[in-house]
Amino acid sequence: MKVFFDTIGCRLNQAEIERYAAQFTLVPDAGSADMVIVNTCSVTAAAASDSRGKIRSASKNGAQVVVTGCWSTMEPEIASAMDGVSLVVPNEKKDSLPSIVLGIEPEIFDEEPLKRIILPGIHARTRAFIKIQDGCDNHCTFCVTHLVRGKSRSVGKERVLRDVLAAINAGGREIVLTGVNLGAWGLDLDPAVELADLIEFLLCETDIPRIRLSSLESWNLSDRFLRLWENPRMCPHFHLPLQSGSDSVLKRMARRTTLAEFRRLVETAISIVPDFAITTDVIAGFPGETDTEFAETLEFIRSIPFAGGHVFPYSPRPGTPAARMKDQVPKAIQKERAKVLRDIFEQKTEQFETSFIGTDKDVLWESSQLSKDGLYETHGLSGNYLTVTTKFSTPVRNRIDTVRITGREEGKLTGKVLKIS
Ligand code: SF4
Repeated sequence: MKVFFDTIGCRLNQAEIERYAAQFTLVPDAGSADMVIVNTCSVTAAAASDSRGKIRSASKNGAQVVVTGCWSTMEPEIASAMDGVSLVVPNEKKDSLPSIVLGIEPEIFDEEPLKRIILPGIHARTRAFIKIQDGCDNHCTFCVTHLVRGKSRSVGKERVLRDVLAAINAGGREIVLTGVNLGAWGLDLDPAVELADLIEFLLCETDIPRIRLSSLESWNLSDRFLRLWENPRMCPHFHLPLQSGSDSVLKRMARRTTLAEFRRLVETAISIVPDFAITTDVIAGFPGETDTEFAETLEFIRSIPFAGGHVFPYSPRPGTPAARMKDQVPKAIQKERAKVLRDIFEQKTEQFETSFIGTDKDVLWESSQLSKDGLYETHGLSGNYLTVTTKFSTPVRNRIDTVRITGREEGKLTGKVLKIS
């Protein structure tokens, strides 16, 4: 059976798709598929609407459509009533999706995996997304993810090791460890362990050149954990969702951090690796956010050397406490605040990126495109998440070169290769 995968939302959805992909014959588009599997998201109203859009376009080509993920878990009746949808697999059964779709008993499937190769990026990326954790025990008042993904569960370290070795065998040069609440990895295991233990284990048992973490909450992170970044194989990039730069808003959000703790974490990371890239997410117009609280957020964000940030105007998610809060901020004000925040992050990104002009970075080349001058315009990522562009006479992919950063044009850093690996 020819299968096309489509996914939206977080890196975790991406990691799950890569795990499923190893079990099927893949095709590059929905038009040539017998089955389309759509992994949906419900983190914002826009993500839920995009999920429905993906299902609609999947069904246009007459393929069977299988839907899974957070949005379809939240609204299973609506999902299964959509044109072309033959099956909805809720999040709690998501790990068994290939066996459900292929009609194989999960136990047999686990004993005799069909291929068990984690592709280093089914969408032609060179990084393999490895799921190490799912679910969350926190109760952030705006968040629907912990409702639809359930309690925190860790993937055991031997299983993670198998996935990482499979990614290396498939040519992967970088792994990205993903989860809903990565910092909670290991706390549910018996005996309880911590994320630092897993990372030390992977550094010791594999020779993967780069390990990156996807989005990480800023609590449960010990100094021992941060010291792991003294190892150059650890990519100095944290995506730490801040959500608000006002302590009173953080309290209403039930976030388990304060601004002082967040600042200390950033300062410690930068004291270990000065080039550390810290990116974040911020919600604009959380219920009850006053002008003063918004001004506090602006001040805090200006004071932190962020390399960039995503801004989401607040959207009430069904079943969450924040959706029931009084003083919902009018859409127009949310939009205005989101724009101010985006402008600040744009300036911060420019500031961060230009500070590397003239320095040398190891870049993993990800994609090449033939340009009009007959050369291949090639994009890659540094360990600290700088996107760098250069030109080669042949397509180059999945190689780590040392590159001198030469400038910034149209919002992109340009570079010159100094040393080919
Ligand atoms: S930490 Fe908060 S925002 Fe993140 S998944 Fe858990 S409840 Fe949601």
